[in-house]
Amino acid sequence: MSVSKIDQVPLLDLKAQYSTIREEIEPVVREVMESQYFILGPKVKAFEERVAEYCHTRYALGVSSGTDALIIALMALDIRPGDEVITTAYSFFATAGSISRLNATPVFVDIDPVTFNIDPAEIESKITSKTKAIIAVHLYGQSADMDPILQVAQKHRLKVIEDAAQAIGTEYTNGRRAGSMGDIGCFSFFPSKNLGGFGDGGMVTTSDAALYEKLTFLRNHGAHPKYYHKMIGGNFRLDALQAAVLDVKLNHLDDWTAGRQKNAAYYNEQIAARGLDKWIRTPHAVDGYRHIYNQYILRCERRDDLLQFIKDRNIGSEIYYPVTFNNQECFADLGYKNGDFPKAEQAAAETLAIPIYPELTRAQQDYVLDAFEAFYK
Ligand SMILES: *Cc1c(COP(=O)(O)O)cnc(C)c1O
Repeated sequence: MSVSKIDQVPLLDLKAQYSTIREEIEPVVREVMESQYFILGPKVKAFEERVAEYCHTRYALGVSSGTDALIIALMALDIRPGDEVITTAYSFFATAGSISRLNATPVFVDIDPVTFNIDPAEIESKITSKTKAIIAVHLYGQSADMDPILQVAQKHRLKVIEDAAQAIGTEYTNGRRAGSMGDIGCFSFFPSKNLGGFGDGGMVTTSDAALYEKLTFLRNHGAHPKYYHKMIGGNFRLDALQAAVLDVKLNHLDDWTAGRQKNAAYYNEQIAARGLDKWIRTPHAVDGYRHIYNQYILRCERRDDLLQFIKDRNIGSEIYYPVTFNNQECFADLGYKNGDFPKAEQAAAETLAIPIYPELTRAQQDYVLDAFEAFYK
C-alpha cells in the first residue's frame, strides 16, 4: 500500500469530523424532519439541560448565535444607552459590537501579553459612574483570570458576562467552568467552535433563577404570557435541528478536547526540539487551568512573511485578530488612537493560528513543523 505524501493541511477539517459521526447524526436529523417541530421544543430543552450540567450552572438557554447570546445577556442585565461596559481590546468583533448594538459604550482594556486575555490589573482605572458591567473573554479557549475580575466587579457592583464563545468546557482554577463564574455565560455553536452546529447557534448560562426567567422572555420578544409584553425582546431562538446535532456532538466533546490538547503538546515539544523556539513562542497554558485550544496561537518573528510562506505550502492559517478594537474604523468616535493598547496591538502584529483540530494527524503536524524549519533555517 502506498502512503500518500501530505501536501496540504487545512486550518479546520469539518468533513473529517463528520465522517466519524455520520451514523449518529443522520437518525436524529431525520427524527426532527419527521416531527416537523423546528423551533425550540423538546430537543432544545433536552440539550439545554445537558449544557447546563456540562458548564456547572443551574440553567442554560439555547439562542440563535454567540453574538445574540451576548446581546440578550446585556439586555437581561439592563444595559442601557450611555452605560459603559468594560472589555478587552482584543477579541472577535462581536464582543465589542454587541455592546454598541445596545447603544452602550464599550470601554477597552489592554491584555496580558502571556495569555492574550484581559489584564485584570488595568480594569479598575477604567471604571466610572457610568460603568455597569464587564465582559471577560476566554480567548482561544483559555480562561481569563476571573478572581480579580470578580473582585473588582463586586467592589463596584458591576455585572460580569463571560464571553465563552471559544471556551465550552474551559476551566479556571479549582475546576470552575467557563460560563459558571460571572452572572451570565455566552456560548457560540458557530461551526468552527469546539462544539459546532450545522449553522448558527448559541447558548446563555446562568445560575440565577430571576435572570434565567428574564432571558427566557427576552428570547421570544419579551412575551409573558404569549402576546403580552412587559419588555421588548427579540427572536433569539435556537432551532431544534441544531440542538439535535449539537446534542450528539456533545457526547464527543471531551474526546475532541483531549485530541486538541495532545496536538498542542506535540507542537510545543517539537518547536522546542527543533530549535524553532528561537523565532516562535508557543501558547502559554496556565498551570491548573483547562485550556481547550479552540485556537493554537503562536507568536512569531517575521509573522507576515511566515504566513505567506506556509500559505504557499497549502497550510491553513489565520490571524485572530489582525485589528484591535481601538483601531477599528467603526469605533473611531470612541476617541481611541493607535498605540493606546500596545500589548494587544503587538499581539495583532505577531500572532498566527495554525491547525489544531482533533482529527489532525502527526504527519500533518510534521508537515507544518517542516515548513517552519524551511522558513527560519
Ligand atoms: C465566535 C465568537 C463570538 C460570536 O459567536 P457567533 O456564534 O459567531 O455569533 C463572540 N465572541 C467570541 C470571542 C467568538 O469567538
